[in-house]
Amino acid sequence: MRKRLLGNLLPDDDAESVFAIPYEKLRAEGYAGLVFDIDNTLVMHGAPATAAVRALFDRLKGMGFRCMILSNNREARVKSFALTVGADYIYKAGKPRKAGYRKALDQMDLPADRTIAIGDQLFTDIWGANRTGMMTIRVSPIDPREEIQIVLKRKLEKPFLKSYFRKRKSGGRRAERRALPADETRRGGKK
Ligand SMILES: [Mg+2]
Repeated sequence: MRKRLLGNLLPDDDAESVFAIPYEKLRAEGYAGLVFDIDNTLVMHGAPATAAVRALFDRLKGMGFRCMILSNNREARVKSFALTVGADYIYKAGKPRKAGYRKALDQMDLPADRTIAIGDQLFTDIWGANRTGMMTIRVSPIDPREEIQIVLKRKLEKPFLKSYFRKRKSGGRRAERRALPADETRRGGKK
């Protein structure tokens, strides 16, 4: 399904955390690559990989997933995290630009439609991945200290969501008008 401009800001799915995603089901559906954001997605901002995250990556690799870390953070941060969980990585990825995602696909040797991007931010993680053609899952940001920032982000997201739903609604009305007899449609148009 082709996604529209504003729809690119919206994820295909959402989950409470990276631990609540139905990976087995997604693997069975044919998805083979996972591209993770780090900060506020896998761990709190700046925190090292936890035992739970290491176990998650072991499990995912055991299922046959290729796993990538794609972060806008600097090399020292991203490299040490990725080495700890045993994943390939791209640092200073320039999200939401598409180049980083394409590089991730190249490194995994997978097409976009078999790859899922997982992140906490609509304007970086989700927007970039949608435009690259990946499936997207938005997780709730895990750091409670950034609650005010999250509230602000939600406010910023609001007009985009509204405009998306308005657009969808007007598309529905257009479809209804097309269903009307020709003369009624013309009358409506002259109003
Ligand atoms: Mg993040």
